[in-house]
Amino acid sequence: MTDHHMRPSPISPTIDLDAQGVHHGHLRLPYSRDDSAWGSVMIPICVVRNGEGPTALLTGGNHGDEYEGPLALFELARTLDPKEVRGAVIIVPAMNYPAFRAGTRTSPIDKGNMNRSFPGRPDGAVTEKIADYFQRELLPRADLVFDFHSGGRTLDFVPFCAAHILPDKAQEAKAFAAVEAFSAPYSMKMLEIDAVGMYDTAAEEMGKVFVTTELGGGGTSRAETVRIARFGLMNVLRHAGLVAGEVERRPTRWLDMPSGDCFSFAEDDGMIETMVDLGEPVEEGQVVARIHAVGRTGVAPQEVRAKMSGLLAARHFPGLVKAGDCAAVIAVGQEQ
Ligand code: ZN
Repeated sequence: MTDHHMRPSPISPTIDLDAQGVHHGHLRLPYSRDDSAWGSVMIPICVVRNGEGPTALLTGGNHGDEYEGPLALFELARTLDPKEVRGAVIIVPAMNYPAFRAGTRTSPIDKGNMNRSFPGRPDGAVTEKIADYFQRELLPRADLVFDFHSGGRTLDFVPFCAAHILPDKAQEAKAFAAVEAFSAPYSMKMLEIDAVGMYDTAAEEMGKVFVTTELGGGGTSRAETVRIARFGLMNVLRHAGLVAGEVERRPTRWLDMPSGDCFSFAEDDGMIETMVDLGEPVEEGQVVARIHAVGRTGVAPQEVRAKMSGLLAARHFPGLVKAGDCAAVIAVGQEQ
């Protein structure tokens, strides 16, 4: 299926995306509903453009309960001076805007998970329409695509910037160079549980330099992780030549997710006891969490064991856990 057989996107920008200077507006998506017959979803967008140069597409709120990205990007849109820019910076601080407004991972309208909705559909549900607009209108404009994530309400991560292992090694090297410039405390060579439908995959298949993060979680943000987001974002813009100035490099520890064995899943419902804190070393076979039965006394807890040695990179966040939930993620440190 090629693009020109598809109908146009129903989304219309309220600003000229190609105009010079700073323009704040919306991506207007018609959405007829009980409380607004001819209403629209209004997704905030800002374009800062100054002459010829590369284009960066910056997004947060791909999942609506992750806050470092929106905090960094709403502020960047408010403060970035076009005189400092060479090229264009397209900022969409809350990509899945209905989810962001609801404070939920997925959209309250259609339950759509933005990061499982690509390439989207112009005639699909609201989340698919947003994905389609990124797929056909915004991604093709970009050289660099930066998508902020955090753990959301159910996961918590050590703060890292990440890119994927890719078949195109030149594309991969550019992405890892941008990750290194971000200078998060950790830098991850990332493996996905299921890459189908991801924004990441859509950008990478177009040959774009795609960089992402996981910065904390728990459905909130911390002072430290917001600082990391803002500091790293400016570094990536400098690294890409979009903003003048030297990258302010800080030490980062490279981590790897070498196989599916880095993920441990709960096999029972219950109350989770984390046995290791984020960033602490773990040995293969070590109990990293215990899941306690909540229905009766006298039941031994389920032990969740690390399938490899490394450090605890992510953990289940809420105190209660269900069978199938991701309980822990182990990453392997790269010695340098
Ligand atoms: Zn996310």
